[in-house]
Amino acid sequence: MICIVCPMGCPLSVEKTADGFKVSGNTCPRGEKYAIAECTAPTRTLTSIVPVKGKDMVSVKSSAPLPKEKIFDCVNVLATITLDAPVKVGDIIVKDILGTGVDIVATKNIP
Ligand code: SF4
Repeated sequence: MICIVCPMGCPLSVEKTADGFKVSGNTCPRGEKYAIAECTAPTRTLTSIVPVKGKDMVSVKSSAPLPKEKIFDCVNVLATITLDAPVKVGDIIVKDILGTGVDIVATKNIP
């Protein structure tokens, strides 16, 4: 896999061992942490857009990375939402989406 933590994009190899995982190819410790997380509990930050009645769309994102297997279900939740203006940066659009403990927040002001 390629490490996506920083623009270096180090090519990583992960080997399962009796003690856990052995990671090689990483230039720094963050690569090892990323590789093990990808093999055990991958996460992604969700970015999307939500319509605002009579206005533009508002961009939103997850307040923290979500479990990768829940991303499409979260997108489906967002597809059911239409907001009323105004919307401010940081407004919580969906609290604790799908019980993940992660909020979906606005990243744009819509007056
Ligand atoms: S291993 Fe370290 S240096 Fe390499 S891409 Fe990942 S974070 Fe960047």
